[in-house]
Amino acid sequence: MYGPEWLPQIDRKACTGCGECVAVCPVSALGIVDGKAALVDPQACTYCTLCENICPVSAIELPYLIVKAGPEADRA
Ligand code: SF4
Ligand code: SF4
Repeated sequence: MYGPEWLPQIDRKACTGCGECVAVCPVSALGIVDGKAALVDPQACTYCTLCENICPVSAIELPYLIVKAGPEADRA
C-alpha cells in the first residue's frame, strides 16, 4: 500500500542499536542487523509511527509525517 519512499527511514549513523524500536514495533518489521536497526520486513510495516516516537536519538523518520506536518498539509 505504500511505496518504498513512505517507509521508515533509519539513519544508521545516528542509531545506537539500543533496540527500543525493535521492541515497540507491533508487527516485527524492525530488527537489529550488524548492531543497528534495520527494516527487516518492510511489507509488515503499518506506519504506526511508534518507532519514530520511541527512538531516543531520532534515528527513525517517517517521511510522510514530515510532509503532513508542513504548511502544505495545513492548507489541505
Ligand atoms: S512505523 Fe510501526 S509498524 Fe512500521 S516499523 Fe515503525 S513501529 Fe513498526
Ligand atoms: S530506537 Fe533508534 S537508536 Fe534505538 S535501535 Fe531503533 S533506530 Fe536505533
